[in-house]
Amino acid sequence: MFIDSRNVEQRAVVETTVCIIGAGVAGITLALEMDKHGIDTVMLESGGYKPDDATRDLYRGENVVFLIPMRMEAAAAFWVAAATAGAAGAGRSIHGTSKSATG
Ligand SMILES: Cc1cc2nc3c(=O)[nH]c(=O)nc-3n(C[C@H](O)[C@H](O)[C@H](O)COP(=O)(O)OP(=O)(O)OC[C@H]3O[C@@H](n4cnc5c(N)ncnc54)[C@H](O)[C@@H]3O)c2cc1C
Repeated sequence: MFIDSRNVEQRAVVETTVCIIGAGVAGITLALEMDKHGIDTVMLESGGYKPDDATRDLYRGENVVFLIPMRMEAAAAFWVAAATAGAAGAGRSIHGTSKSATG
């Protein structure tokens, strides 16, 4: 069920077992797991149902440094190594590969 919190009475209390702030990849994954286990969960996400500039402005930033060529090369080498290892080992995740690649 979706509720626009702007329509919820001020100081209203919503009772739940788990409250997840942020419906990004991590939050949604966690919410699905909670649902699988029948655990009451409320998820809070900023903004409305449609994209709006006021919400986008919260994430506005500016670059203060440029990536140096070395870092770009290191990043590229990492992704090539990760993709190669991923292709070679069935079920091996990129996360697992990155751990072993960096020690
Ligand atoms: C430009 C860019 C390109 C990327 N490209 C890739 C890619 O190609 N492949 C890849 O694997 N990863 C990519 N990533 C990284 C990926 O987007 C992040 O790693 C991933 O989104 C992190 O997930 P998360 O759930 O931790 O956070 P997020 O996805 O950032 O989710 C956090 C959520 O919390 C909400 N939120 C924050 N504060 C509050 C609050 N106070 N109240 C309510 N809600 C709140 C936000 O609105 C947001 O929806 C990219 C990132 C960027 C910036």
